[in-house]
Amino acid sequence: MDLNLVRQELQKLLKEKLVPIALECDEKGEFPIEVYNAVADAGYGSIYLPEEYGGGGSLDGLLVVMEEFSKISPAFALSTMSSFQLFGYNIAHLGTPQQKEKYLKPLIQDRKIGCWALTEPDVGSDAVHVKTTSKRDGDFFIVNGSKTFITNAPIADFFIVIANSGGKGFDSGNAFILEKGMQGLSVSKPFKKHGHRSSPTGQVYLDQVRVPKENLLGTEHKAFYDMKHSLDIERLMVGPMIMGTLKTLIEKSVIYAYSRQQFGQPILTFQLIQEKIARMRMHLEMVTAATEKAVHSLKQGHSIKSLATALKLYAAKVGVEMASEAVQIHGGNGYTHEYGVEMFLRDAKLLEIGGGTSEMMLQILAKDTIKDVGKKFGVI
Ligand SMILES: Cc1cc2nc3c(=O)[nH]c(=O)nc-3n(C[C@H](O)[C@H](O)[C@H](O)COP(=O)(O)OP(=O)(O)OC[C@H]3O[C@@H](n4cnc5c(N)ncnc54)[C@H](O)[C@@H]3O)c2cc1C
Repeated sequence: MDLNLVRQELQKLLKEKLVPIALECDEKGEFPIEVYNAVADAGYGSIYLPEEYGGGGSLDGLLVVMEEFSKISPAFALSTMSSFQLFGYNIAHLGTPQQKEKYLKPLIQDRKIGCWALTEPDVGSDAVHVKTTSKRDGDFFIVNGSKTFITNAPIADFFIVIANSGGKGFDSGNAFILEKGMQGLSVSKPFKKHGHRSSPTGQVYLDQVRVPKENLLGTEHKAFYDMKHSLDIERLMVGPMIMGTLKTLIEKSVIYAYSRQQFGQPILTFQLIQEKIARMRMHLEMVTAATEKAVHSLKQGHSIKSLATALKLYAAKVGVEMASEAVQIHGGNGYTHEYGVEMFLRDAKLLEIGGGTSEMMLQILAKDTIKDVGKKFGVI
């Protein structure tokens, strides 16, 4: 795959279709469905899904796509990733041939929208203790409960829902594929949110949903193990999302600071402004290097759990800090919607919460590190 060509062609499409409406969609809280359809038709959404089902099979391609979306609208990147990665990748990775035929093909070829539902009103970080139940009834599972904060839920055709399987600890998860229109399945309207406003987030209600046993995804009781790999990919994706965000903020900041005059000179000449730009560049280089390292490790077949965790933690933190600095460089104008800078600050904040909070990332890193050292020295 020629990545330069992918980038050029995608930039052309986004310039025509997403750039003119991105800020308006954010303001109105509207998902740009026509852009989603165009991106799906052109194969950008499914760029990392298997070629035999019509995908592009390219992890490098996915990074390019996520970065380009995030330069304009991190919310669009989030919704597209939730559909094609959180839903699609899990089907590609764990699904039976029949499940792939039934759900992956329409996702890739027929503009279907997917979502992935783990979080519940009473269960967030402590995800293993989901309260949604799944009970076997002949050839069906009866699923009861509710999910919240689910990206794309209000507009989804397909859902992956994680429920308690009746097992213990980590062996207590069942993943199911559900479809819009199944009796007992309903969704809320999109939530009104601080950021990622054009990515529809909502609740999923599950009232005695009869799910055929063929729709169990992966191994019974093992959903929390099965999903680990896709969580690593989700965390890795924070890298290109923040790379896109930082690239836009750097360009906007330099151009603005060059044209804005105070004390008889462009504010770009002030060292305090230059320092902010230098820090943005430094963090962009660091996030890029960590992302490239994680991709390389993944291609070599190594575990990227700790690396993807560290990357998410770091990228999300500097994303928020640097977006705040970009607003600062723009002064009062940066605080307005019109300049398109403060949206990136609101959007970056989500990355410290969704996909595992920064506190959870720290906890995972501490545990992994203590375990590694303990193993090396035969202690702890
Ligand atoms: C816009 C948006 C989109 C989302 N999309 C999805 C989606 O598509 N699918 C999905 O399943 N979920 C989704 N989520 C949910 C997201 O993953 C959760 O919000 C996140 O995991 C945190 O859970 P919580 O909100 O219940 O917070 P809690 O778990 O209640 O945490 C609240 C605070 O307590 C801290 N905390 C909790 N436990 C500990 C601890 N042991 N030690 C220290 N601090 C702790 C947390 O770090 C946090 O600061 C989305 C959320 C948002 C806002």
